Amino acid sequence: MKYYCDYCDTYLTHDSPSVRKTHCNGRKHKDNVRIYYQKWMEEQAQTLIDRTTAAFQAGKIQSNPFTGQQQKAPPMPGAARSSKVLRVSTTTEL
Ligand SMILES: [Zn+2]
Repeated sequence: MKYYCDYCDTYLTHDSPSVRKTHCNGRKHKDNVRIYYQKWMEEQAQTLIDRTTAAFQAGKIQSNPFTGQQQKAPPMPGAARSSKVLRVSTTTEL
């Protein structure tokens, strides 16, 4: 039986726990998972923007919340990673 990976859009030749584990720990798979969710989030955001813009143009809301937010700073790279490391080291101390 073959195992299909949704993220990589590919079939693994054998479906065994070790093969799947090796695949899921692979750099290519992790990249694909990240891209998959990034794309999904972008689509969600775009849908929200489109809906709000349509509502704004239809006069349903008085102000567009998406204007004047371009100055917002992007999240620090590696911020999530460092907090994870912090959490891990705290548990080790306990
Ligand atoms: Zn994969």
